[in-house]
Amino acid sequence: MQNVCFIGLGTMGLPMALNLIRAGNTLTVFDLNEMAVDQAVAAGAGRVDSIRELSKASDVVITMLPDVPEVEAVMGGENGVIENAKKGALLIEMSTIHPDTTRRLAEDAAAKGLRFLDAPVCRSSKDAEAGTLLILVGGEESDLESARSLLNVMGSEIEYCGSVGSGITLKLINNTLVQGIAVALNEALMLTEKSGISIDALSSVCSRTAASNWLLEKAYPNKVFKNDFSLGFALDWAAKDVGHTVSLAKSLGLDSRVSEVALAWLTEAQEAGLGRQDAFVLSKFMAEK
Ligand code: NAD
Repeated sequence: MQNVCFIGLGTMGLPMALNLIRAGNTLTVFDLNEMAVDQAVAAGAGRVDSIRELSKASDVVITMLPDVPEVEAVMGGENGVIENAKKGALLIEMSTIHPDTTRRLAEDAAAKGLRFLDAPVCRSSKDAEAGTLLILVGGEESDLESARSLLNVMGSEIEYCGSVGSGITLKLINNTLVQGIAVALNEALMLTEKSGISIDALSSVCSRTAASNWLLEKAYPNKVFKNDFSLGFALDWAAKDVGHTVSLAKSLGLDSRVSEVALAWLTEAQEAGLGRQDAFVLSKFMAEK
């Protein structure tokens, strides 16, 4: 039986790790938050004091951390995963970070004889609990095959995207498209209401034209129109993801002005203190401006 370790037991990582334990994997966990570690240990995980110790003992290292600084802190340096993992170990990086960081870490890992997959996830914390995430994988297909049984526990759909970095790149493009659609939809809702027309009429028309979209048909009726902004996907994460996409577009010499508008709105909402609320709160924020 392979030794698997999981680093980053937050909103997403903890339920993913718990599912791996329930599926019978030998899992050791690490997080700066001791309460999260306690929950995983109570469910059967092993506890270690350091990433160094953890890396030395693991065949597979899964990371689910907030952003670039945290992933670099865990992966890099003399006490980090890359320096200490066993030769041949597989690193599965599931956080949503910048693809440049992903590719650099993959190169550093390869130089140490380690294997590396980027495997960021789509969907919500509810899907993390249910094991129904959509996982976007970049890297060698043979490495995906050796990771597949673990990924199948955390996700119901595994999408192979191509070489290392392509999973995270598609994840950022997807999330940025959602935020662009959300900003355009929020404008459409404001226009509709100010014009004295019902939202039902807008939905009815859009559902039968090229303007039809999942946000208006599914997500907004369940959340925004019920004034339910309970946390699913934090606005801070939406801003982070769109920021990475804008930076990627710039580095590729592309015009990304729609994404930049979405980022400007998200940044303004963050400055108003809404970062830890659900990203759908942007609709309310824009309407009340
Ligand atoms: P989170 O903030 O809830 O959890 C992050 C965890 O990492 C925390 O438990 C924190 O203590 C731990 N951590 C931070 N720095 C650490 C370090 N140096 N060493 C060890 N542990 C450390 O974040 P989350 O919502 O679980 O999101 C994780 C990633 O998944 C993010 O990149 C996010 O964009 C992405 N994502 C989130 C969702 C969502 O709905 N929440 C959906 C898809 C993808």
